[in-house]
Amino acid sequence: MKRDLRQSRDGELVIEGKSLPVTFRRRTNARRIILRIDRSGLGIVLTLPHHTSSRAALTFAASEKDWILARIGRAAERVPFAAGQHIPLRGRSHSIEATGGRGTVRLLARAEPTILVPGRAAHVGRRLADWLKRQAALDLARASHHHAAQLGVRFTRVTVRDTASRWGSCSASGTLSYSWRLILAPPFVLDYVAAHEVAHLVEMNHGRRFWSLVHSLCPEADMARSWLKTHGNGLHLYGE
Ligand SMILES: [Zn+2]
Repeated sequence: MKRDLRQSRDGELVIEGKSLPVTFRRRTNARRIILRIDRSGLGIVLTLPHHTSSRAALTFAASEKDWILARIGRAAERVPFAAGQHIPLRGRSHSIEATGGRGTVRLLARAEPTILVPGRAAHVGRRLADWLKRQAALDLARASHHHAAQLGVRFTRVTVRDTASRWGSCSASGTLSYSWRLILAPPFVLDYVAAHEVAHLVEMNHGRRFWSLVHSLCPEADMARSWLKTHGNGLHLYGE
């Protein structure tokens, strides 16, 4: 059994190795499956009649892959990990500066904080992505340990991934998995997702007792949920 914290989406469609988030809309008056690109420009929305299965809708979408690929990403302005770009880190805008030379990625406190990335310009994206994933793993492990200690429970390990359809998940074996993109969000949002998954170690459901555990661990849970609803999709605009 596995419980997931969904990113206000319902599934994913993989086209040529690219994972696209899918939102399903069921409409009694829909006569056929309708496919469109979502507002973020990065995912698709499938409107389907009640009797149509989501699997059939995904098969239909897959058959329209050329149409989708021609349009995806066009509506949204993607922000690559490259010198001169601005990205949020722990909810604050940072500029990216390539320093050349050797060394490790460093933060510089300025009016606009700066992330200094050493190495060749061509490698800035990869080095920054790796660094952000490590930062995410550190912050998420710290938050998970903190919440687990509050509840007196243990987990097996923490992993970070780039998942399109969920911010976090908790497996029955006690592995907590998170999206590394949470490091881009304000800290209270990352803290909430960790509290949510740790609470699943006790309650493998989304019942009343589960939510009261989450609120006891994270008083800002409601604010964090609404932040994710509004801004969560936007976190997918950064980097690869
Ligand atoms: Zn959950």
